[in-house]
Amino acid sequence: MNYEVILIGGGPVGMMLAGELALAGVKVCVIERLTETTPYSRALTVHPRTLEILDMRGVKSKLIRKGRLLSRGHFAGLETPLDFSALDSSSNHTLFLPQSETEKVLEEWALSLGAEVRREVEALSVHQDEDGVDVKIAGPNGATTLRSAYVVGTDGARSLVRKHANISFEGTDATFTAILGDAVLSDLAPMSVLSRITAKGLVSIMPINEQIYRVLIIDMERRNISKDEPVTLEEFRSSIVRTTGSDLGLKEVKWLSRFGNATRQAGRYRNGRLFLAGDSAHIHFPAGGQGMNVGLQEAMNLGWKLAGAIKGWAPDWLLDSYHTERFPWNTALLRNTEVQTLLLDATPPIMELRSLLANLIQIPEANYQVAAQVSAMDVHYAPDPEAPPHPLNGKRLKDLPLKLKDGQLMNSYSFLNKGHFLLLNFHVKEQNSGQWATYSHLQVVHASLVEAEADWNDVHSVLIRPDGHIAWAISRSDPNPMQTIYEGIARWCGNITDQEK
Ligand SMILES: Cc1cc2nc3c(=O)[nH]c(=O)nc-3n(C[C@H](O)[C@H](O)[C@H](O)COP(=O)(O)OP(=O)(O)OC[C@H]3O[C@@H](n4cnc5c(N)ncnc54)[C@H](O)[C@@H]3O)c2cc1C
Repeated sequence: MNYEVILIGGGPVGMMLAGELALAGVKVCVIERLTETTPYSRALTVHPRTLEILDMRGVKSKLIRKGRLLSRGHFAGLETPLDFSALDSSSNHTLFLPQSETEKVLEEWALSLGAEVRREVEALSVHQDEDGVDVKIAGPNGATTLRSAYVVGTDGARSLVRKHANISFEGTDATFTAILGDAVLSDLAPMSVLSRITAKGLVSIMPINEQIYRVLIIDMERRNISKDEPVTLEEFRSSIVRTTGSDLGLKEVKWLSRFGNATRQAGRYRNGRLFLAGDSAHIHFPAGGQGMNVGLQEAMNLGWKLAGAIKGWAPDWLLDSYHTERFPWNTALLRNTEVQTLLLDATPPIMELRSLLANLIQIPEANYQVAAQVSAMDVHYAPDPEAPPHPLNGKRLKDLPLKLKDGQLMNSYSFLNKGHFLLLNFHVKEQNSGQWATYSHLQVVHASLVEAEADWNDVHSVLIRPDGHIAWAISRSDPNPMQTIYEGIARWCGNITDQEK
């Protein structure tokens, strides 16, 4: 074997997964055809749940230094913005940062942990057998074949891995296309924002920085043009004029592109030793800025499970849970982008509906519900059927302030920096937990909560997964808590006798 895992595609999702695997000590290599990170950034937003998971790994602060924090998001560009500050999180904001910057930070992080990134190399074919996967590649040094135990297709919408894994990509073709342009608009005051829907179409303009604006247009006269037809400067200018009334002083254009609302999802995210994550697993209209965000969250869900399979401690069901856990949330994501797309039509009934929804979102509970969906704060997984029921099972962990036995105050996310499981004990005597010390991927912390939290009052102990979701919590009324903890750890972290040396 050349590597334990090969990731085909070094976009944001490939780099994040490379970091997660390297963090767990996996020998991982990213195959990327581009010589360097593309300067053309599709995504501009990093949403709250993504900031939370990056915070767990100590990467959030590196990104924040480069971008702008905003407390607002949007749903279908409705007149009322979403207020993320209402979210119950220390990351109750979105980060405005071009995708190229996010990718660079994630690549640096992965490299610093020991991941290998092979650029200017294209994957040509993928073939799996019982023991591993052969990946044929071609680069400046010619063609060769690499072998690994697993391959993940982080290779975007036209995924080679998806095709070679014989995984279907079900859904609908684009029914319209939109135009994207990053340009200097000298008639606009610096940092202005413009959003308008009329019978001529939709235009949304936001500043990327002091000089460049991101312009998105669905021009009713041009919406049937194929995604593959290049956008010309004249077309871009005419569409700006049609939708805003002037060319806004259009000068320098940095990037022009066309994208559509094709909506598809892979039938399954795993076939044997082959996995899919990010755009290779799902595509949709980029409404609400969610695609990259969910891809990064998938990398967080898959990394530790794959590492566990390689290190030999992961139970069989754990790898399959990647598909089971993520697929339904991405189906919901596809539906929410389709709903947003419907709301972009400027017909009188839709305009009426937009105004109704904009009014409804002003109600705090309605804002919370939609904000939690767009920001992925509402994501939770099915409770472990083998664990005693508890309302926390499967939910996300928020960054809780903890008081340690020695009086030190620490936040819960800081214990997830190494990507290990975290057993938070509120009642076990330290001397009784020595038996768990043999798990190199489990950290045991004896602490108490600094502030009261709903659903946490009766918690005796809680096992946090490496991706910041709660595997199980057991209550103080459990008749035999030590036995329940022991069984719960063995189920999630592998049997104590199988631990790696
Ligand atoms: C206009 C627009 C705006 C968007 N805005 C947002 C936003 O604000 N927020 C958000 O979350 N999402 C947004 N998205 C979506 C986001 O850009 C994508 O979801 C994200 O890029 C997916 O990341 P990925 O790593 O899965 O795939 P990609 O970014 O497509 O990366 C795949 C990589 O694989 C490489 N590759 C492919 N095939 C091979 C091969 N055979 N061999 C070697 N390398 C290969 C490619 O070169 C590429 O680098 C937007 C999309 C569009 C179109």
